[in-house]
Amino acid sequence: MAAAEETTPLVSLDHEGLVIRRGRRSGLYTIVAVHSTTLGPALGGCRMWRYASSADAARDALRLARAMTFKAAAAGVPVGGGKGVICAGPGGAPAGAERRDVLFDFADTVEVLDGAYITAEDVGTSSADMIVIRERTAHVVGLPESRGGSGDPSPFTALGVESAMRACCARRFGSPELAGRSVSIVGVGRVGSALARRLSAAGARLFLADIDESKRALADELPGAQWCDPNVALHADADIVAPCALGGVVAESNVDLLRCAIVCGSANNQLAHEGLAEDLEQRGILYAPDFVANAGGLINVAAEREGYDRELATRRVRGIEAVMEDLFEEAEATETTPLAAAYRLARRRLAAATAPDPVTA
Ligand code: NAD
Repeated sequence: MAAAEETTPLVSLDHEGLVIRRGRRSGLYTIVAVHSTTLGPALGGCRMWRYASSADAARDALRLARAMTFKAAAAGVPVGGGKGVICAGPGGAPAGAERRDVLFDFADTVEVLDGAYITAEDVGTSSADMIVIRERTAHVVGLPESRGGSGDPSPFTALGVESAMRACCARRFGSPELAGRSVSIVGVGRVGSALARRLSAAGARLFLADIDESKRALADELPGAQWCDPNVALHADADIVAPCALGGVVAESNVDLLRCAIVCGSANNQLAHEGLAEDLEQRGILYAPDFVANAGGLINVAAEREGYDRELATRRVRGIEAVMEDLFEEAEATETTPLAAAYRLARRRLAAATAPDPVTA
């Protein structure tokens, strides 16, 4: 199916809507894909990226919107799945007045959907961009805290990953305790560095790896941390490997090289293809489904819709530990992988929301 999607973007279309508009100010394409509003308005970030073609951008929006539906449903967040895309021109991401123009154009595309889609920051956009978008549409979350928003989602994503790790440790080692556990974090950017700080404070031993050498300073700073070559970090002799950089890191070519007991990180689409969940299972490696482990940022930003309460959002993000425990139990009971259990949980929630009300039906 993945191969078919590569060449024929609409072949597996099961979305509620796709809006593609060429901005009247910028001349750039802005796109919003709404996969599902079954559980609530579709929430998903706005990605600004230079695509090879506008068709590629539409395909990316469709793919990412669908992933958001499952992520929200599995996490129990009452929102649907959507995604926004701004196609940067050949010169790359615009700046200054041109950036403002395209953000206004994108905001107008959001307005077309009249609240069925709520945008937020994503790769290539920032909370400062959300302030600009907010000038033309109310359907935006992820504003800075100074503007009544929930601010940077990364610390919450890191907290969610840590919570998922505790569930993994309880499952694999009989205790959620992270003190003394060794963790190889592959990518110490916004999420990876926040995770490293949390795990160091919890008494874990850390291998920190990044292709950006300047991140080495974090390994020097944190107690229990040491720097690791990014080429070997995935295969490190550690209890846990935490992919926190790009997707597709666990592939056919390297799955046999993994020496960890657990894979649990923030990166989206950590498995190059989903069949690898079976390979990990067969090798006795516990895989925390990425879209459950990294849902902390979504849980946090979605809380803005009901008047942001940081403590409540934090408690909900910690709830990822219990969700993950349930998935592991279901996977064992049904002799499937945690990834398959996560999809089933999401589908159950979506089906329950669409089932006719027995009283009124
Ligand atoms: P980021 O760009 O701040 O950090 C990524 C880091 O990975 C960078 O430091 C980069 O140099 C490093 N990196 C890139 N390629 C690498 C490689 N091959 N080996 C080692 N390091 C490498 O991004 P982020 O916001 O920290 O997000 C990390 C991942 O988590 C992404 O996949 C993102 O989609 C996902 N995610 C992030 C959030 C969030 O709240 N920021 C939420 C959900 C999912």
